[in-house]
Amino acid sequence: MSKIAIIGCGVVGAAIAYELSLIPGLQITVIEKNTTASGSTGAALGVLMGAISQKKKGRAWRLRATSLKRYETLIPELEAKTGQEIPVNRQGIFKLLFAGENLEKWQKLQEFRSFEGWNLIIGDRAYVSQQCPHLVNDNIIGAVYSPQDRQIDPVKLTEALVTAATANGVKFHFGVTVENFVTQPASQGELLNCQQLKTSTGNIEVEQLIISAGLGSTPLTESLQQTILIRPVLGQAIKLKLDRPLGNPDFQPVITGNDIHIVPLGNQEYWLGATVEFPSETGESIADAELLAKIQQEAIAFCPLLKTATILKTWSGKRPRPEGIPAPIIGNLSGYSNVLLATAHYRNGVLLAPGTALEVVQMISKIKN
Ligand SMILES: Cc1cc2nc3c(=O)[nH]c(=O)nc-3n(C[C@H](O)[C@H](O)[C@H](O)COP(=O)(O)OP(=O)(O)OC[C@H]3O[C@@H](n4cnc5c(N)ncnc54)[C@H](O)[C@@H]3O)c2cc1C
Repeated sequence: MSKIAIIGCGVVGAAIAYELSLIPGLQITVIEKNTTASGSTGAALGVLMGAISQKKKGRAWRLRATSLKRYETLIPELEAKTGQEIPVNRQGIFKLLFAGENLEKWQKLQEFRSFEGWNLIIGDRAYVSQQCPHLVNDNIIGAVYSPQDRQIDPVKLTEALVTAATANGVKFHFGVTVENFVTQPASQGELLNCQQLKTSTGNIEVEQLIISAGLGSTPLTESLQQTILIRPVLGQAIKLKLDRPLGNPDFQPVITGNDIHIVPLGNQEYWLGATVEFPSETGESIADAELLAKIQQEAIAFCPLLKTATILKTWSGKRPRPEGIPAPIIGNLSGYSNVLLATAHYRNGVLLAPGTALEVVQMISKIKN
């Protein structure tokens, strides 16, 4: 097995392409119907909530821990290989705690994380005022600060992954849509084998297929008669500019409060987001202006200086959320001997892309040997 096709060039497909390109002897092709990071990835804020997430065991935590560790080597590796700068905020995530929050839950997490070398700092109201004097609200009771979590520019990251993978021999086909497949029963058992991709510009032979097409994975699995339902959950966000940095210019972590992120970008600019908007019963998902205004108001309620900000732009994207099963989906498509799914990362695709790619590498290496 050497001909591998990856469908989708968001952060997940690009990360898989890059990690696979480090294995000698593989012929890797990526097919993307638009351009790099044109799906959910292009709308993401790139907040990597790893150590500060409440996930403690099993696949959910393993993927987070693996991703955070790989990011520490991946970013310098990509920057050195490509010469492209990838903006990363290494000042951590500062999560506000409000009245009614279960403090014991955070103390347990802090203890648990410390066994594995992850540092979480829990502070009271005075700690918040000292660290982030711009965060003011009577309901703030304290904060959890996670210095080892990160935020990364998702588009720049994906572009660098593509450049590095291209240098390693991966072929990218942009503006090409995978429309259907040619399949045949495999020699052993009842499993099917995907042999060819039928694309908008011709056919591509495959020996191993990886579907990392985000929301586009549902119609693809439908064509393979094994429908995996992935629904869009819309998210809107805002880019803001202030006339001075929020709080201490030398301490600019991502601020999180009530599930709203304030992401510092430098130059007194910030991203603010994102809304979480489920589709209607008919499957429609249209950005609701009221919900965007609401998160802005909620952010101002704990960071009053945001009132003075100028809105530079707003945008929205659709997160791929699997129906009825936990995100993400990584594994064999049932009924097939050579089709892997690496998709439906919902709210954490940027966080989980490196861990997902390493899992796929392990699966491919097992098949190869
Ligand atoms: C507003 C917002 C904020 C977010 N913030 C964060 C965050 O802070 N941290 C985080 O970790 N995650 C965040 N996310 C989630 C994250 O964006 C997604 O989980 C992640 O981008 C999924 O990546 P992907 O590569 O699987 O999908 P996508 O980026 O959607 O890529 C899939 C690609 O497949 C292509 N494709 C589909 N069908 C076909 C076909 N038939 N043929 C060829 N190509 C095809 C599409 O064009 C697309 O480019 C956010 C999402 C949104 C919308």
